[in-house]
Amino acid sequence: MKQIWKELWNDVLSAVYPNLRCVFCDAEALYCDEGICETCLHTLPFITGEVCAKCGMPIAHHGEVCLECKHKTYSFDYARAVALFTEQTAKPIHDLKYKHCAFVAEKLGALMATYYEKFLEGSVQPLVIPVPLFAEREKERGYNQSELLAKAFCKVLGLEMRTDIVERVKDTPTQTHLNKKERAKNLEKAFRVTNANVVKGRDIFIIDDVFTTGATTNALAQQMRKCKPKSIGVFTFLKVPLGNKEQILQ
Ligand SMILES: [Zn+2]
Ligand SMILES: [Zn+2]
Repeated sequence: MKQIWKELWNDVLSAVYPNLRCVFCDAEALYCDEGICETCLHTLPFITGEVCAKCGMPIAHHGEVCLECKHKTYSFDYARAVALFTEQTAKPIHDLKYKHCAFVAEKLGALMATYYEKFLEGSVQPLVIPVPLFAEREKERGYNQSELLAKAFCKVLGLEMRTDIVERVKDTPTQTHLNKKERAKNLEKAFRVTNANVVKGRDIFIIDDVFTTGATTNALAQQMRKCKPKSIGVFTFLKVPLGNKEQILQ
């Protein structure tokens, strides 16, 4: 009986004060701006060591690129992520995208800001641009999850975010039936820069929720590169490790 009451009380708490719970495991995480409990903070696969200079994948030695990036060129200069994709780290992203839990973005954005200060220190004041969603999709969901992440991220760090620089002119739904080349081609004209002057000479920081193959952010960076920015970085909450990609794309 006691257990039932506890569960009920927890449900009520979560509904009324979702901010008090850990966004990864639902445990109590009181007084924590980033919404993460002590256990998750110490057990989840946060990326803290040496990473591939191109894609941000954890690697053994400094200054190397990972196996996948050895023969790859990207239109962005570097990509970094806070954590590796696992069932548990993906939970808040899933809640954000498919369960209308918009408040989660504030927590994850704050986590991204903490991570940025700790591991990406030295970056100049970048202009933050969230990956835009196709208008119809944003209407369906009610918001663009990347924009919410970027907003929370910028709020903590006092950085400038712009959503009027680039738009998504083509919807690119699940591309599982396409091979790598076809996917890239399909994405090629998905974005259009509408405010090129603002990009020129700036350090651009693209924010997205998950870095899977990098195809989406790369397509966006490709368009932005034409406007001659000083640099383009990509920052996501999650990075999908090599072996998991096919699974995630479905
Ligand atoms: Zn937790
Ligand atoms: Zn790499």
